[in-house]
Amino acid sequence: MNSLKGKTAIVTGASRGIGRAIAVELAAKGCNVVVDYAGNVNAAEETVKLCQEAGASAIAVCADVSDEKAVNELISKAQENYGSIDILVNNAGITRDNLMLRMSAEDFDEVISKNLRGAFLMTKYAGKIMLKQRAGRIVNISSIVGLHGNAGQANYSASKAGIIGLTKTTALEYASRGITANVIAPGFIDTDMTSSLPEKVKESMLSRIPAGKFGQAEDIAKAVAFLASDDARYITGQVLGVDGGMGA
Ligand code: NAP
Repeated sequence: MNSLKGKTAIVTGASRGIGRAIAVELAAKGCNVVVDYAGNVNAAEETVKLCQEAGASAIAVCADVSDEKAVNELISKAQENYGSIDILVNNAGITRDNLMLRMSAEDFDEVISKNLRGAFLMTKYAGKIMLKQRAGRIVNISSIVGLHGNAGQANYSASKAGIIGLTKTTALEYASRGITANVIAPGFIDTDMTSSLPEKVKESMLSRIPAGKFGQAEDIAKAVAFLASDDARYITGQVLGVDGGMGA
């Protein structure tokens, strides 16, 4: 039986890349999907179209996840449209890379705010509804660099390590109410975020991937669908690497 049929999922940062693939995968499994995005309305509408083509109902909502008011409006729209929030995928993320000595405090703060404060706010307000429902699935997208660090990404690595602490705490606080919270830590996935990296950096990354190829957004989406399903009901507070062996 498909346990995701009729469930409602909010996917943050779902206009492009990994978020879009997650939205479409959950739609194909029968979820109603709320496609959150930061500003790229055409891309968000394209994700909605792809979800509908997969047979689901979907809406696009523009909400900066680091803005508390916008988060509350997003949650209200999801509830007004679909009545419940069963699955939350905190996927929205940005990078502002630079070596530590050259990284501005503003770039540090901005990445922490969008990547970590955003996941906290979404978890707090969507979690409130899940607590009342006494059921829910939260899947947070961290990164292999949240576990191992990466030169030039002090802000991003810190935000992604923070996601792991946030998730483990969520798991502990919510487990008794039928809510699970888990992390997926992707390796190097082929999206807009990585396509702009210099060829030399990409070659060096590739040499560190035992599988010998970059991951695809769909590889992350399949793992999210599993963690969001009934089959994963006894898994909580865990970090699942989806990285072609990079973290082994
Ligand atoms: P991407 O292609 O750059 O897409 C980023 C998405 O996040 C877009 O939909 C963007 O919306 C949205 N977004 C950005 N800031 C937002 C905000 N403040 N509020 C709401 N939405 C916001 O990124 P990606 O590669 O798919 O990455 C998705 C997630 O996976 C991120 O958390 C990233 O850190 C993580 N990750 C990626 C990789 C990788 O190799 N690609 C590896 C490990 C982890 P707009 O389109 O409106 O701008």
